[in-house]
Amino acid sequence: MIDWWAIKAVMLGASVLLLAGCAPDVSAPESTHTELADMAWGDGTSSPPEALAFIREDVPAWLEPQAPFQIVDNLYYVGSKGLAVYLITGEYGHILIDGGLPETAPMVLGNITALGFQPSDVSLLLNTHAHADHAGGLAALKAATGAMLYASGGDRSALEGGFYLGSEDQTALRFPPVKVDEEIYDGTLIHRGDMFLVANMTPGHSRGCTSWTLNVSDGDKELDVLIFCSATVAANRLSGPPQYEGIVEDYRATFAKITQWRPDIFLANHPEFFGMAQKRAAQLAGDRAAFVDVEAFPSLSARLQSEFEAALEESE
Ligand SMILES: [Zn+2]
Repeated sequence: MIDWWAIKAVMLGASVLLLAGCAPDVSAPESTHTELADMAWGDGTSSPPEALAFIREDVPAWLEPQAPFQIVDNLYYVGSKGLAVYLITGEYGHILIDGGLPETAPMVLGNITALGFQPSDVSLLLNTHAHADHAGGLAALKAATGAMLYASGGDRSALEGGFYLGSEDQTALRFPPVKVDEEIYDGTLIHRGDMFLVANMTPGHSRGCTSWTLNVSDGDKELDVLIFCSATVAANRLSGPPQYEGIVEDYRATFAKITQWRPDIFLANHPEFFGMAQKRAAQLAGDRAAFVDVEAFPSLSARLQSEFEAALEESE
């Protein structure tokens, strides 16, 4: 049975609690990668039809084009209007963070080209988390670029199975499976020439939720950038049975970890989390530092933490 509440909550990344009666049945044991991969539909270029119908109706911006642009230095936005994909360019190959949806993969490739770069120079794909709206396009992007995919161990089974961990029976939450070439860990440093990226495990929203940090230069200033995974509860069950074992402890550890974070530039996989439209408008109006906003992340993380505690209380 399709759980529309779950789909909506996942798709919007919102802090929507599942009604107990709507919670998907997770009594079946977690299937193996192969079984689930065999169950996948299509050729990696499309979302499940029921998911696509929902997206067209409720979150059409996810499919709408967005003119690509330079955020700062070698960091670019190449996603759709409603789902972020980041390009980090370097002389030893470019990196893409997140894949958006399968349907927007051609748009992402077109955006890379429009900025003057070659999709075939993308050598590495990374992911914030293994949910359909950020991992759905990875298979198509991998096929088009020939890049490797590095991902966390916590999200590996979901990426390779194309499912939402703990809701494997929800066909509408599936996405084209994609092979992980190498596992990354908390503190893994990705180093390409003078480009450095660090993987920070921030589990909870997904078991392997990964937030990426990097340094960029703006003139003589060094700026630290955070591409945050998410810490919303969304469609996750916190109890009875939990979405995955240890999810509550994971959220708590993540909040304890991120509470001190004060990145100069805060970015996320959903553009509205960091006010992209307003910041881009300010940038277009001539504000070179439009994306520098030290207060943005602390205020979001405080809000997410109180939403999590409220959701936990309600679930108990
Ligand atoms: Zn998600």
